[in-house]
Amino acid sequence: MKYSDLVRDHFGSPRNLGELADPDGIGDVENPVCGDRTVLTIRVRDDRIAAARFRAVGCPAAIAASSITTELLIGRTVAEALHLTNEDVSAALGGLPANKLHCSVLAEDVVRAAVEDYRQRAGVAAEVGQ
Ligand SMILES: [Zn+2]
Repeated sequence: MKYSDLVRDHFGSPRNLGELADPDGIGDVENPVCGDRTVLTIRVRDDRIAAARFRAVGCPAAIAASSITTELLIGRTVAEALHLTNEDVSAALGGLPANKLHCSVLAEDVVRAAVEDYRQRAGVAAEVGQ
């Protein structure tokens, strides 16, 4: 298995690692395929992702995907965050080996979970799926 330089870079020095105190949304998703788990916390200000942090346990691809996802998220509107796909995550990492694509799906799923949590807390759940 060969990882891109970007995957190795993000795995070696993950960005936005940890947890936000008092987050506006939390996503907690597990991937049964290789036992990856990611917890994503987000802060939302004026309908934009102002901060995002993650904790992940799993394979290098899952850590790298979670790391780059926080970078892709920060600055997006909540609606834009929901449009982030696993292809975006994989492309931003310079591609993932085919048998590791599910790790980018984990990133997509955890973003969705965190945004849905935020919307439920904010009482705007009806807007999900816009
Ligand atoms: Zn994995």
